[in-house]
Amino acid sequence: MDLPKTISDVHNGLIKGSFSCIELTKSCLAKIKKENKNLNDFLNLTEDLALEQAEKIDGKISRREKIGPLEGVSVAIKDNILVEGYKTTAGSKILEDYVAPYDATVIEKLKKAGAVIIGKTNLDEFAMGSSTENSAFGVVKNPADTSRVPGGSSGGSAVAVAADHCLVALGSDTGGSIRQPAAFCGVVGFKPSYGMISRYGLIAMASSLDQIGPLANNVEDAQLIFNIIKGKDIFDSTNIESKKTKTNEHNLKIGVPKEFFGEGIDKTLKERTEREINKFTDLGFELKEINLPHSEYALAVYYIIMSAEVSANLARYDGIKYGFSAKDRNLLDNYLESRTKGFGDEARRRIMLGTYALSAGYRDAYYNKAQKVRTLIKQDFEKVFSPSADGVDFILAPTTPTPAFKIGEKKDPLSMYLSDIYTVPANLAGLPAISIPCGRVNGLPIGLQIIGPQFNDHLVLEIAQIYEQSNQ
Ligand code: GLN
Repeated sequence: MDLPKTISDVHNGLIKGSFSCIELTKSCLAKIKKENKNLNDFLNLTEDLALEQAEKIDGKISRREKIGPLEGVSVAIKDNILVEGYKTTAGSKILEDYVAPYDATVIEKLKKAGAVIIGKTNLDEFAMGSSTENSAFGVVKNPADTSRVPGGSSGGSAVAVAADHCLVALGSDTGGSIRQPAAFCGVVGFKPSYGMISRYGLIAMASSLDQIGPLANNVEDAQLIFNIIKGKDIFDSTNIESKKTKTNEHNLKIGVPKEFFGEGIDKTLKERTEREINKFTDLGFELKEINLPHSEYALAVYYIIMSAEVSANLARYDGIKYGFSAKDRNLLDNYLESRTKGFGDEARRRIMLGTYALSAGYRDAYYNKAQKVRTLIKQDFEKVFSPSADGVDFILAPTTPTPAFKIGEKKDPLSMYLSDIYTVPANLAGLPAISIPCGRVNGLPIGLQIIGPQFNDHLVLEIAQIYEQSNQ
């Protein structure tokens, strides 16, 4: 069977009896099994769980019970989010055989809503990377051009959606890991405001930046998933109850930051993005050039704060409590061996950088200073979003400086880090941001980024939908 493209297609098809949930789920699983050898977007399938859920939904339909919008919808989960009873590797050798002992809050919510969890997707080790080349379990290929990367770190989730291996997927975004792969693969990727979605059961990378979010074929589907998984959770103290902000979508002002079109941006991508942004005036919005003067420091600040938090969060993988153990009889050698063999190069690099930035004598010069500049970056956004006459309602910018690059092209870590230049500011400031497909450059998909004021997640999604519909 041809797999449906959207959540409402699934819902209508199931209700009308065009296909059963078992049929749909089996077709999905078969397509993955056939194509995963090449694309490598899935690390594990949760086949039993998926079929059990699908059977339950078919039962409900045959008893003529009402089914909710997400029932029967196949969802792929980034493999740093715990699904009880299944392996959760975080893309690392150190967790190769780790089986999740409980469900993450987002998984509990998806299961309750009747979603069919189909499998766990590939990622850069512990979500550190921009290409999914840092996975201990092989590179993921971009279906738009298999010689290119899908972006990262949620590369597997972006590919799973783009290749019709599932309807929607969950990813995590610490510095751009949902939006950047979404842009590279031509799908929608939404990073909610920090605190909107519980991080309980997400394997921590950098706790003050990490946020779970959806990847989907359209904005409506991303919104639906977001509405199901958000909300207060006692297991995450940084999590808040979301308040729906009332907005009038008309006569809104858009800020276009000069700093997001500077050095290093691909010329054709720049022109294409500017053309798409200009279309917003036809949609009734007012465009205004703005400045985010501290954004030039965003990448440097991100790589200090993120690495510091990574070094603390990854300290728990000591070869004793979790996962891989070198089983050396001497305790100190066991720590050393387990971590040396268990972690890949990028994880080790960041642990060392972070440990250095936090060490006595350097903490003030690096970590504390980066925290101060983080505040300045946040204040830049607060200023442009102020309700005063020159304030704007949201920001438009490119998601990435270039389209997807070739596998193996970026050997130098610094050049890899530069692909996050337009995505990290929203993480540092805790803001909601979405990437939506906005055409192609040399045949490769690119993304338009919409950034909104903190906790105005609904506004960001509504604006994205207006733009998406205007393109249909
Ligand atoms: N690419 C960025 C990094 O390597 C972002 C990762 C993420 O958002 N998880 O840190």
